[in-house]
Amino acid sequence: MIDDTAGNEAASRGAVGGLIDPEHPEATYLLEPDVVAPLIARISSAEEAGTHRSICPFTGAPLATLPLSSPGDVALAAKRARAAQRSWAHVPVRERAGVLGRFGRIVLERQSDVLDLVQMETGKARRSAFEEVADVAQVARHYAVRGPRYLAPRRVPGSLPLLTGVRVHRRPVGVVGVIAPWNYPLTLALAEALPALLAGDAVVLKPDPQTTLTALWAAEALEDAGLPAGLFQVVAGGADVGQELIEHVDHVAFTGSTATGRRVAARAGERLVGATLELGGKNALYVAADADVATAVPSVLRACFGNSGQLCVSAERLVLHEDVADEFLAAFVPAVRALRLGAGLDYTADVGSLASAEQLAKVVAHVDDALARGARVLAGGVHRSDIGPWFYAPTVLDGVPAGALCTREETFGPVVAVTRVASDEEALRAINDSEYGLHASVYTRDVGHGRRLATRIETGTVAINDGYAMTWSSVAAPMGGTKASGLGRRHGAASIDALTETQTVVVDRGARLGLGVDRLYGAGGETPSRVLTAALDVMRRLRMP
Ligand code: NAD
Repeated sequence: MIDDTAGNEAASRGAVGGLIDPEHPEATYLLEPDVVAPLIARISSAEEAGTHRSICPFTGAPLATLPLSSPGDVALAAKRARAAQRSWAHVPVRERAGVLGRFGRIVLERQSDVLDLVQMETGKARRSAFEEVADVAQVARHYAVRGPRYLAPRRVPGSLPLLTGVRVHRRPVGVVGVIAPWNYPLTLALAEALPALLAGDAVVLKPDPQTTLTALWAAEALEDAGLPAGLFQVVAGGADVGQELIEHVDHVAFTGSTATGRRVAARAGERLVGATLELGGKNALYVAADADVATAVPSVLRACFGNSGQLCVSAERLVLHEDVADEFLAAFVPAVRALRLGAGLDYTADVGSLASAEQLAKVVAHVDDALARGARVLAGGVHRSDIGPWFYAPTVLDGVPAGALCTREETFGPVVAVTRVASDEEALRAINDSEYGLHASVYTRDVGHGRRLATRIETGTVAINDGYAMTWSSVAAPMGGTKASGLGRRHGAASIDALTETQTVVVDRGARLGLGVDRLYGAGGETPSRVLTAALDVMRRLRMP
């Protein structure tokens, strides 16, 4: 590991935004007790199950001490949620939508509070924290406006035209358990909780222990938006609390690593409850021969280094067509070196800290492994301990041999490996050469060509001339991964599908008119078969659905 405290000039300049007192770094990001105490009081934790001390990644100093939930607390939270859900399911959908509408407004109005909290819990730059505010406001608005339509009963063709009336209704599943990671603590706590609440479900959320305060802030804001008590509860703890939660809910909405996702799915399967799994990625970004380099560079920068690369849809593999590779790197590498790292609770920094010592260790291990195998550093490759304990410079690696850790495993950090290809075919082989299938990007001037390439890319989403931002924020469209990147989709109608049960109600209109199939069968002998054969033949000829 290289510890380059000298670093590059731009990085040091943006280092701290004047917030860290070098004499007392641990005292910089303190939360006021009157802010924290009411939040902590919301944790479903009546029994003594120990405490967790969260750390501010900007300094490594303690941030807050939180009570943990015991198995009994989790069971009680689910019981309360179930009781509250019974009445909530009967509240007219437009009223439920109203809560989401107000919640979206509150998040925008109180953004400076939650931005501080998200930054202090995760160490991310404020612009990355703002992505969460914008996302949650977007999701809340979408379901407030479109939700009633998603939930409206749908007529479908019946067995016999005119004689059979069929409607498909959507009913809430009941209690949804949301298990969320630390990297986007506001967004991922709410991405499925908001459609669940709209659908008439209750939610019990288990955030990552590091980002519990942000989850509690969301609970407070939902209540202020008019959500009745008991419908959105937060339990605190790690893997054991997550496992316990699965025992008490009717659907699990999990976001996190593939390894944990497999465990969650296994238990949900045993219980025969649904599970939506949004897991890891090893996303590739292809710069085609005809790409517009000038417009691609700022977009690719964000795609690779947004949230310090701790983002499921960020690009970790940069596939460059050889016709444009040199031109692209000549513009991209200086732009990477110029990114400002910093810990300020303001918009001065482009890139923040990694979230924990574990994240730093993984990033360092991946870079060290690539270098040991002969890779070259084009930018970064250094631990920036001069800024904070877990800062790492945005890093571009070239000549990384196949088989290196960073070519196959999710790094989840600010590290991107360059691969040069001689054709689109070779690019497609490189993009699809992964056990993951979450997201990919193609940069090209020919959008039609980009669309054709997309049909051959094995990922749940493909962005053309964009990294991830426009894809993630197009919340009417399904989002999620193929292969080891997940099961099911979120956003738009997909979340409503996952978080409700359908109930098909069929009316046999023919019965009242004396034309029912049962009456026909009453005729006995071969007649019913003859009549039905003729009817099916007519329907086939008329191409009836
Ligand atoms: P993680 O799997 O370690 O933890 C995620 C959550 O699961 C945490 O709340 C954790 O406490 C809980 N948990 C851990 N073990 C559990 C168990 N056995 N049973 C139940 N719950 C358990 O993931 P992480 O490291 O916190 O998050 C980073 C991962 O999340 C990355 O792989 C990233 O790609 C992925 N992610 C995916 C998406 C997506 O939409 N596809 C979005 C964000 C993050």
